[in-house]
Amino acid sequence: MSVLKTDQIAGLVDIPDDARIYFEHPEKQIQNHLTVRSSNGDILHAEVFVVYHNTSRGPAKGGIRMAPDVTLEETAELAELMTWKTALVQVPFGGGKSGIRVDPEKLDRVTKDSILREYVHLMKLDLIAGLYVPAPDMATGPRDMAIIFGETHMPESVTGKPPRIGGLPGRNEATGRGVATATRLACEELLGKDISNVTVAVQGFGNVGSHTASFLHGLGARVVAVSDIYGGIYAANGLNIADLMKSDNRKIQDRGGITRITNEELLATDVDVLIPAAAGHVLTRENASNVKASLIVEGANAPTDSEADEIFMEKNIPIVPDILANAGGVIASYVEWRKAKSGSLTEATETYEVIDRLIEKAFSRVKEIAMRKKASLRRAAWALAAAELVSTMQDRGWM
Ligand code: NAD
Repeated sequence: MSVLKTDQIAGLVDIPDDARIYFEHPEKQIQNHLTVRSSNGDILHAEVFVVYHNTSRGPAKGGIRMAPDVTLEETAELAELMTWKTALVQVPFGGGKSGIRVDPEKLDRVTKDSILREYVHLMKLDLIAGLYVPAPDMATGPRDMAIIFGETHMPESVTGKPPRIGGLPGRNEATGRGVATATRLACEELLGKDISNVTVAVQGFGNVGSHTASFLHGLGARVVAVSDIYGGIYAANGLNIADLMKSDNRKIQDRGGITRITNEELLATDVDVLIPAAAGHVLTRENASNVKASLIVEGANAPTDSEADEIFMEKNIPIVPDILANAGGVIASYVEWRKAKSGSLTEATETYEVIDRLIEKAFSRVKEIAMRKKASLRRAAWALAAAELVSTMQDRGWM
């Protein structure tokens, strides 16, 4: 069953019936068992899932998630989202994803490096650089991509590397940059408010959440609440995001003497914009009616369950969907991959310029179809992405 439901985009674009066969069946699902010796000598075993959803538009592209509860089904859902995301912003990649089922909180650096090296060997990433190109996702970052590069020695085999070894200046901040740009546009065009006049709550203070909060703070928005997996903090006058980012304390609640809140309280904070930027499926039938924000921007992948989506539609709360809001990361990955192939150099300002341009273009196309067809932004984004994918598959003779 695919995330994208063709009945939900009926009437928005013409999609041939048999396209569903491609949408519903990932091209490849791989399940590996990874075994390494951890730094203390114990043998560590982890399941590894890799899914290519659709590669008609280019190599499968998608990050590596390390989480204790990641499953093949979740990896497949995330791979499919990458197919729609890359099609919507029109970068020449397909959809893919990796999941490594380990608790990243329990790994020291040496053990994590061993897992990543073994993952490269299992997946033969040095041989399939044109087929699947990984990047960071939850609990993986530039240092981890550097380990992968160290095994493949091919700069185009992985994106999200540190800039000194072929990475892209601005890639680390890229997803947050795109989420902030999408938030600014949605505030102006859907709420009729300048970004400097809005209050924001951000769930998750990892790569996506922290950079989103930082860019929004830079644009003058008042970020009043942020959280991590352990809980959140709130300050009515706005949080000092730069100080929070500088702090070495592992938990956000230990980074400032401000009011402590739970993650459920963060989701229900009285703000203009709520940005879930952590785990998936956090907005559910149980808590959707508690949300007081006027706008939701999905920094995370799949943070809103379909029942919650219906509740937000009834409450007239627009949602900027994940495949649009958090596409900045894959846009920057495309620039990094292009740079790896050409050997060109890129400045961070150029990275941000490409992200802003492609997000603005996609936002305007999605908004236009949503307004014209009186559909949600999510359905409009799905419709455009599905039409793009179908046209590509027709170009390739797949349909
Ligand atoms: P990360 O590991 O850097 O940070 C995750 C943050 O979320 C941490 O602060 C963690 O404590 C918090 N968190 C985890 N589980 C939580 C929970 N159940 N409740 C509340 N907080 C929780 O991960 P990231 O790279 O920032 O990814 C966050 C989300 O953004 C994911 O859904 C990911 O798929 C999506 N995303 C990431 C990128 C990227 O470039 N990194 C790109 C597009 C989308």
